[in-house]
Amino acid sequence: MTDNTTATSGKVVQIHYKLSDDDGTVLDQSSGTPMAYLHGHGNIVPGLENALEGKSAGEQIQVVVEPGEGYGEFIEDAAESVHRNDFPKGMELQAGMPFRAQTSSGEVVVLWIESVKGARVTVTRNHPLAGKRLHFDVTIESVRDASEEEIAHGHAHGDGGHHH
Ligand code: ZN
Repeated sequence: MTDNTTATSGKVVQIHYKLSDDDGTVLDQSSGTPMAYLHGHGNIVPGLENALEGKSAGEQIQVVVEPGEGYGEFIEDAAESVHRNDFPKGMELQAGMPFRAQTSSGEVVVLWIESVKGARVTVTRNHPLAGKRLHFDVTIESVRDASEEEIAHGHAHGDGGHHH
């Protein structure tokens, strides 16, 4: 018999969370509605997903995630200045925004906008939280089976999940 109530691959888990840095500054948190994610599909950073494995609704965990298990190590000299016209026309460009780009070898990578100054846009391979140790404070709200559609999409639908 499979245990239906713990976070394992193929479950949709709803969590209330607070993310802080080493200084205790809150970087991100769920507000009101818990966030829903599909466990085992890389929806959340590996260090947090591993810590939640096997946990049940109502449990609270505190976990410290190193950058390698979080948003990645900080890569030096990863920033590059490009022109606004290198982006699709009409695309809104904001610092901290991710976008997909294709390398000369055809590989699709995720880059982040670091800053926008006039027509100059600085892009980087570093996630805005790269190199940071992450302090998560998480309470599990609920655990349920994912639907076939959610498994096919690789993410959670409904409350706190994707709406599309
Ligand atoms: Zn979907």
